[in-house]
Amino acid sequence: MVPSATATIEHRRVAATSAPPSRRVFVIDDDPVMLLSCRRILEKDGYEVETCSSGVEGIRRIEEVRPELLLVDLKMPELDGLQVIERVRAVDPDVVIAVITGYATIATAIDAMQAGAYDFLPKPFTPDELRLIVNRGHERWRLAAESARLRHEKEDAERRFVTFVSHQLKSPVVAAKQYLDVLLFTSKDAMAPQTREWLARAQARLDEMLGLIHDWLELARIDRGTLGEPGAACDLAPVVAQVVETWTAQAQAAGVTLHVEEVEPLDPIRGDAASLATVLSNLVSNGVKYNKVGGRVTVRTGRDGAFALIEVIDTGIGVAAESLPRLFEEFYRVRTDQTRDIPGSGLGLAICQRLVTAIGGQIAVLSRHGEGTTFTVRVPLVRPAASSTPAGDAA
Ligand code: ADP
Repeated sequence: MVPSATATIEHRRVAATSAPPSRRVFVIDDDPVMLLSCRRILEKDGYEVETCSSGVEGIRRIEEVRPELLLVDLKMPELDGLQVIERVRAVDPDVVIAVITGYATIATAIDAMQAGAYDFLPKPFTPDELRLIVNRGHERWRLAAESARLRHEKEDAERRFVTFVSHQLKSPVVAAKQYLDVLLFTSKDAMAPQTREWLARAQARLDEMLGLIHDWLELARIDRGTLGEPGAACDLAPVVAQVVETWTAQAQAAGVTLHVEEVEPLDPIRGDAASLATVLSNLVSNGVKYNKVGGRVTVRTGRDGAFALIEVIDTGIGVAAESLPRLFEEFYRVRTDQTRDIPGSGLGLAICQRLVTAIGGQIAVLSRHGEGTTFTVRVPLVRPAASSTPAGDAA
């Protein structure tokens, strides 16, 4: 969404709720007779009409008047209609534009539409033809403003919901977990083994819930477009090293070994280190979680043309062929006896896919049930080699 466009429409919406909706039409034509007749016809229908005989002056006035609808002659001496449309679009992307022309051809119509006009009125025209175009244009503006209003309301509701989740839901869970931590730390030895076990289970459930809230908020943050700096770049190797280090203890506890294989050193890649670390972290933790005692997880990095290639290969439980296409869906989890007790939100891979796509990359998965899974991520390099597009699988 273009923020300036939204702001303009929003501004009008507020104005429109406190006063009757205005119906402003701006007409630019170098023929004074044409301007006069447009004014007479449209004012009779209740439109506020402003006219101007020059493109340059018209553009200046449009910035002040902010009409909903602009009628512009295609053929004018100093600045023609197409140039006017282009400049008006830069000033006010919301205004609905129709062109008037005495030399209507398919080619000029296409040019005008490509420049951003929505309709076409060939000269000479009758008052009814003018009314039809103007009424249609006004309706179009009204619908666009209405849909922008609804979009805003939806975004506001989402924002409020995210705030609600983070404060009303997350805070008490964090507090409850802290009480349990303190209780277990200070009084563990005084507790009966059964009590200790129940408290430890409660702790684990709260951790699961915090993980779910964290993933859900992360997804909402991505959907709202509040990602790391656009145009960011980073080195892959330190991100891989940091992620692998983070998960080493958990892997050891699960009897799984973590390995890094650098096939060739890489130039910096596009994307911020935080997003990339989130992606790798999800993939490596899955590789550990959905593994077997004695299994391996290997993070292999190399180059594939203009892309850095990152493979996270595990020798774990694998995924049945019928479940593979759903893996990147929000909240999807494979339900089998093997996965029943493994905690998770079903949001990790959806987050990975959104982040990788936002960076301009691709993520794909190959798996064999019972043998293991390989996730392949391709992220654009900042300085691509002379070739090419990625050759691999689709996600
Ligand atoms: P979760 O929080 O459940 O791990 P994800 O979105 O990360 O959510 O993964 C979705 C589902 O995909 C998981 O519940 C699991 O069933 C399956 N899955 C993901 N990674 C692997 C893997 N490396 N091996 C086997 N199954 C996996």
